[in-house]
This record gives sequence, C-alpha cells and structure tokens, in this order.
Amino acid sequence: MTKHAAYPSEDMVAAVAAPAPAGRHFTSFQPLKSASLDCKKHASGAAVVGGSWFESMKASSPRCAADAEHGDDWMEKHPSALASFESLLAAAKGKQIVMFLDYDGTLSPIVEDPDRAIMSEEMREAVRRVAEHFPTAIVSGRCRDKVFNFVKLTELYYAGSHGMDIQGPANHLQATAEVVHFQAGSEFLPVIEEVFGTLTAKMEAIAGTKVEHNKYCLSVHFRCVREEEWNAVNEEVRSVLKDYPNLKLTHGRKVLEIRPSIKWDKGKALEFLLKSLGYAGRNDVFPIYIGDDRTDEDAFKVLRNMGQGIGILVSKLPKETAASYSLSDPAEVKEFLRKLAKSKGDAPTMKMMT
Ligand SMILES: [Mg+2]
Repeated sequence: MTKHAAYPSEDMVAAVAAPAPAGRHFTSFQPLKSASLDCKKHASGAAVVGGSWFESMKASSPRCAADAEHGDDWMEKHPSALASFESLLAAAKGKQIVMFLDYDGTLSPIVEDPDRAIMSEEMREAVRRVAEHFPTAIVSGRCRDKVFNFVKLTELYYAGSHGMDIQGPANHLQATAEVVHFQAGSEFLPVIEEVFGTLTAKMEAIAGTKVEHNKYCLSVHFRCVREEEWNAVNEEVRSVLKDYPNLKLTHGRKVLEIRPSIKWDKGKALEFLLKSLGYAGRNDVFPIYIGDDRTDEDAFKVLRNMGQGIGILVSKLPKETAASYSLSDPAEVKEFLRKLAKSKGDAPTMKMMT
C-alpha cells in the first residue's frame, strides 16, 4: 500500500493548530435556495412518484441534450474544478486529501450496454497515480465485484451496492465491512434474488431493458428503451414492488434502482470510510467526491454539512446539486486526477500560495 501523506505533509501541524473555518471554501459557491431544497428532497432517496418521474428522468439525463452548455449562472455557483484547481488546492493545503470516485459516468462513459462501461487505460493510470498519493475509494451502485472487475486496481477501496458492501485494499477493512453487511441487512438478499427473477421475466416484454443484479440492490436500465415506453418500465417495476414494502425505488440516469429500505447510501459510505481511515471528527482531512448522478448527491450533502472537502458534479448540463464544483465529462475527470497527482510534485510552489 502506498503511503498517503497529507498535502503537503509539512503543513499538517500548522493546519491542526489553526484550522480553516468550517466551510470556508464554500462561501462563494452557495447553491440557489431552491436547488438546496430539491437536493434535500432527492438525496433522501425519495421514492419515484408518478407523473413527475418522466420529466425528472429527462432532466437528469444529459444525453437528452448533450450539446447544451452550462449556463453562466450555474457555472458561477458550481465552477469548473479544473479552472479553480489552484484555489482548490490552496483550500486543501495542510490537509489529507481522500479521494472518492463514482464509476459510471465519472470514470467511464455512459454507454447503452452497462456491461460495456469500460474505463480507458488512460483513466486507470490517472486513478492509479492519484491512489499513490491519496487514499482512494470507488463508490458505486454496482456490486463490488463488478466494479472491481472494471477498475482492476488492487490498491483502492471499493464500496459497492451504493456503499452497502465495502472492502479495503489490504483487507484491513474486511472485519468492519462485515458490520456494514449486517447494517445493510443480509436478510434482504433472498428478497432481492426473488425480485430479480420477477423483474427479469417482466422486462422481457419491453425491448431494450436490462435488469442488473448488484447483490444488495437491483438496477433496471432503460438506456436502450424508446422514450414512449419509459413510463411502462416505471409502472411495471412499481407494480412488482407493491408486494415488497421493505424495498424502495429510486432513479438515476436512465436507470431505476431497487434497494432495501434502510438508511444507507453513498453519503453513509463516505462517512464510514472516513471513520475507518481514522479521519472521523478531524479537521485536517479534505475529502473530494466526484460523481455524476442523483445517488451521489447524498455524498455531496454529507461534505457540505461537514464543511470540509468538496463535491464535484460531472455534468454537461446545469443540474440541481449540492456539489460545489463541476467537471463536464469523464475526460475532464481524468485531467483533474492527472493534475492532482502531478501537484504532489509541485508542493514547494503550493507552499507559496497562501
Ligand atoms: Mg455515476
């Protein structure tokens, strides 16, 4: 395991002695009041509801208007993490950066077949280099084994099934992860299996759907379904779930997700990992979470409430978000990761910045 020194390590003592005011680097980038309220509503994992679902799905799917550009007002509130790179590093000065990365739409492109959401070798190299310097975790809705098979880097932490299934690089989280399994409710596993069978059979009637088994949760992808049939997908899934009140339905980018109704999400996974790494309650840690979807809002919200670190939304379009910064696509994520890893060699320059 590579050592994970603070950034830059020699500033740690000063940072502990005189910590930055909580939320200092957020003050210039407060979201719109209405955006905050909506994020709260969605981040709670609210069930997908009737007619609003269709419009909400269209609004959260950048591919519907892939050529649209960020509005100036939105970019002012969620500036590019690349354009703001130097000030972002200044905010992290003397603190331990911990990197959290979503997978689909963040490290890999959103593709029609979710089994083909392959990350590029260049992206893998960028993640590997970041992990050489900072603890790095992949936090995904997919099952842990599946996302590991995509990323293939043994030095990372992996939080699969929206954080319900966590494992560390040296297996030292393994014992604690068993607690997480317990919290996630392994009693749900047979129910998830049963619903997977029912949904797989039902979805055969709607061309283009794909039901993915993610151990603790299920994903019904409809990236390849005609827009006129999106509501049919939603209604079929909802009709199946009527018999399972202990499961809840949420949605992401052209995907419906079925999960146990327990209080566990990507935000909880972030908190759990920070605690496992020994950073709970410390003000010398600077978590960076990069994600593109609604489920990532739980993590953005945790960071905003902590007043530490930053959330970075990956989106080509303005979206309601609790993230402070933005990147437009996985290519920009790759560039950001490269710059972050490279900055470790630029510590003397950084020391002159503040
Ligand atoms: Mg994603």
